[in-house]
Amino acid sequence: MIKILLTFWFFLLGSAVGSFLNVVIYRLPRRESIVFPPSHCPFCGHKLSAKDLIPILSYIILKGKCRYCGAKISSRYPIVEFLTAIFYALVFWLYGFSFSTLKLLILFSMLLPVFFIDLEHMLIPDVITIPGTGVGLIISLFEGRLAQGILGSLIFGGILLLIYVIALLILKEEGMGQGDIKLGFMLGSFLGIKLSLLSLFLSYFIGGLFSLLIILIKGKDLKTAIPFGPFLIIGALISLFFGKTLINLYLSLF
Ligand SMILES: [Zn+2]
Repeated sequence: MIKILLTFWFFLLGSAVGSFLNVVIYRLPRRESIVFPPSHCPFCGHKLSAKDLIPILSYIILKGKCRYCGAKISSRYPIVEFLTAIFYALVFWLYGFSFSTLKLLILFSMLLPVFFIDLEHMLIPDVITIPGTGVGLIISLFEGRLAQGILGSLIFGGILLLIYVIALLILKEEGMGQGDIKLGFMLGSFLGIKLSLLSLFLSYFIGGLFSLLIILIKGKDLKTAIPFGPFLIIGALISLFFGKTLINLYLSLF
C-alpha cells in the first residue's frame, strides 16, 4: 500500500518536473532565461496563475486553450508532463529508493528536453550535453565504474564522430549534426561500453526503419532532414531497461 502511495507521489513529482522541462524546451532554443520572466502565454503575454499551471490537468480543464486570449496551447505541454510523470512512477516502482532510480531520473530529465528541442529545431543544446557528460562520469565514479563511463563515452561519441567524418569525406555532407556527437559522448558516459554499442545499433536500426516508413508514406523524398537525436535517445533508453535481456537473447542465438 505504501509503495502505491509513494509511486503516486513520484508520478506527481514527475508531472511537476515535466512542467519545468516544458519551460526548458520552449526557452532554451530561443535563448531566453529559464527562471525569468515567470510563465506567460506566448501569444498574448498574459502572466499565468497557479490554476493555469497545474501539470496535465490545466490543459484538460482549459481544453487546450489560453484562458485569456483563447490561443491554442501546444499538446506538447501535457505530453511532456505525462511522459515525465509516467517515467518517474515507473522507475520508482521498478527500482525503489536506490542509486539506479536517481541515475535514471536525472538522465531522463536531461534527455527529454534534448528529444523535443531536436525534434522541433534540429539542434541539440551544448548546455545540456556537455555538463551531462560530466554528470554521467560523476555517477559512474560513484558506482565504482569510472573506467566504464570514460570508455563508454569515448566509444559512443567516437563512433559517431568517425561516421560523421567519413560521411563528410565521401558524401561531402554532414550525415548528422555535431550536437549528435556530443550527445553520444554524454549517453556513453551513462551507459558504459556494452550498452553504448547496443544503443548505437538500436538507434541506427530504429532510425533506418523510421526513414523507410517515411519514404513509403511520403514518396521518395529522403532529403527531408530527420533529426537523429531522438533516435539516439530512444536507443539509449531501450538499452538501459532491456539491454541485458537483449544481449542475452542475442548471445543465445549462437
Ligand atoms: Zn494567451
